[in-house]
This record gives sequence, structure tokens and C-alpha cells, in this order.
Amino acid sequence: MKTLKRFVLVGAPASGKGTQSSFLSDTYDLKPLSTGALLRAEIAAGSELGMEAKKYMDAAMFVPDEVVNGIVAKWLGENKDCGCLLDGYPRTVSQAETLDANLSQMGMEVDIVVYLNVALELIQARMLKRKACPKCGETTRNGEETCPKCGTEMIVRSDDNPEAFAKRWKDYESLTVPVIEHYQAQGKVVEIKVTEEGEPADVSARIAAAIRAYAEK
Ligand code: AMP
Repeated sequence: MKTLKRFVLVGAPASGKGTQSSFLSDTYDLKPLSTGALLRAEIAAGSELGMEAKKYMDAAMFVPDEVVNGIVAKWLGENKDCGCLLDGYPRTVSQAETLDANLSQMGMEVDIVVYLNVALELIQARMLKRKACPKCGETTRNGEETCPKCGTEMIVRSDDNPEAFAKRWKDYESLTVPVIEHYQAQGKVVEIKVTEEGEPADVSARIAAAIRAYAEK
């Protein structure tokens, strides 16, 4: 039975990473880091990092690798002893190589990559109804006005519009799909295919079954 402590969650924009990140962190006692949510919180706080990141995020571009790598390396150093879940990182092969090297220096490695492979039609429909909490990072699918977790007023993300989405999808395919291949070559990927819209809890149950099978392999 494998011991799983370092999880990566990967999937296209609006593939349900936020929802499944909450499930994974609760179920496997993991501390989550969503780089997107952290950057949105920095923007909301008006910090220097937030202002820098905003330029890229408003243009639906990836924030430069050095900036994101720095944030994650610091966070990993502060959370060496916990099980952890990276959501939305690594997003480029260069980020994956940096992550592997940083973990290796600490005597660790990525233990498992959970890949949410959601059909493009579902993603497009979800993105139009999606809202995000600028404070805690919670995302919802049904246009909720306030955050179900912390009560903050929800926002429509500036990058959730058809033009920005098309750009983000293209970047996902050209830059992030190779990250999945990078970890497939290491035998670390469990893939969950979602082809029909359904309950997030059903996807969670499939993830849990796939993780169990992977751990027992
Ligand atoms: P997300 O909430 O994961 O969809 O991320 C929202 C936005 O934050 C992305 O479109 C990027 O602009 C930025 N971002 C989040 N994570 C990363 C990352 N690992 N590398 C580069 N940019 C990122």
C-alpha cells in the first residue's frame, strides 16, 4: 500500500478542481494550495504581488513561472510536515520540473496526480455560470450571491468570459497537457473522465475509488 502525502490536482479551467480540492483535502487530511485562489486573494488585498499578477490574469495569461514557483516553494517549505494538495500548479512542464527538484531537495516527491478529464462542452457550459469567492477561494456553479463557506459576496471572475476562456483553453492544451504527460511517464497519474454533467459527489466517489486502486497497486 503506497503512502500518499503529496497530491497534485490537474484539469482544464472550470473542470471542477475547486470542488474536488475540498473533497480531497477533507478526505485525505491534506492542506490545499490553489495558486489561482491565492493570487485572487492577493489581488483583493491590493498587494504588490496581486497587482503584478493582475496584469497577467486580466489578460487571461499565465503568471510567469518564476513568480508562481517562488510562491509554491515558500509554501512547501512552510508545510513540510503536512500532507498537501496542489491545485492549479504545476501548469507548465518547467513548473513541474521545478516542483520535482524542490521536493527532491526536501527528500520528497509528488506521490499522485489526480487528472480531471472533463469534456469541453461541459466546461464551456459551467464557465458561464461559475462564481468565485475572493476571500476563501470557494467556487460555485449556480450563480450563488454569497459564499456558502464564509459568507463573502461572490464575484464573477474577470477571466470567465468566452474570449478569455478560449485563450485559457488553448494554454491548457499546449502548456498543461504536457504536465500530465510528464507525470504519466512517472506512472503517477489517475485519470477521471467526466463526459456527462452530474453531481460533484459522484465524481468525488470515482476519484476515491481510483485513488484506492492506485494506492494498492
Ligand atoms: P485558476 O483559479 O487555477 O483557474 O487560476 C486563475 C489564473 O491564475 C490563471 O488563469 C493564471 O493567470 C493564474 N495562475 C494560477 N495558477 C497558475 C500557475 N500555476 N502558473 C501560472 N499562472 C497561474
